[in-house]
Amino acid sequence: DPRLQGISKAIRVVPDFPIPGIMFQDITTLLLDHKAFKDTVDIFVDRYRDMGISVVAANVNVGIEARGFVFGPSIALAIGAKFVPLRKPNKLPGEVISEAYVLEYGTDRLEMHVGAIEPGERALVIDDLVATGGTLSAAVRLLERMGAEVVECACVVGLPEGQRRLDGKPLYILVEPR
Ligand code: IMP
Repeated sequence: DPRLQGISKAIRVVPDFPIPGIMFQDITTLLLDHKAFKDTVDIFVDRYRDMGISVVAANVNVGIEARGFVFGPSIALAIGAKFVPLRKPNKLPGEVISEAYVLEYGTDRLEMHVGAIEPGERALVIDDLVATGGTLSAAVRLLERMGAEVVECACVVGLPEGQRRLDGKPLYILVEPR
């Protein structure tokens, strides 16, 4: 797909952020490029439009930006699905279920509102980037505990080891890190 090169080029790499040794893939520059931003959403929408998906779930709270809010709701609106935010602990006001996941150093948790999903709903999980897959796999477990069927996980950027913690769940990625 010729659009992928433009998407890849629009992602800025920031060396040594947030800590020395990390080549941070900064998607905020992708959002500044209207064509690359639209192409990204269009590719996901074309793929998921006719797959009977009624839920798009995204992690909206990693680090300082709420990056999952960028792609998830746009895709949900375009494919006729609802949007379900997955958040860090103690951010959601209603009753939640929670799943722990392993980080490079230590663990963290993701939470989801009880009642956001009906059993049997078909769900897509989206994030900007997959590294180990730990975050995505926690999202998958939350949705499956609510009885959803997770059709696929999707990310804009995928590190080569991105499948590690996904336990065979299909993963769709647009570009490799630059
Ligand atoms: P994982 O759980 O190891 O797959 O890490 C993925 C999570 O870390 C995602 O929620 C990303 O938003 C975040 N993340 C890790 N590295 C980067 C990066 O270089 N750019 C943007 N987000 C990143």
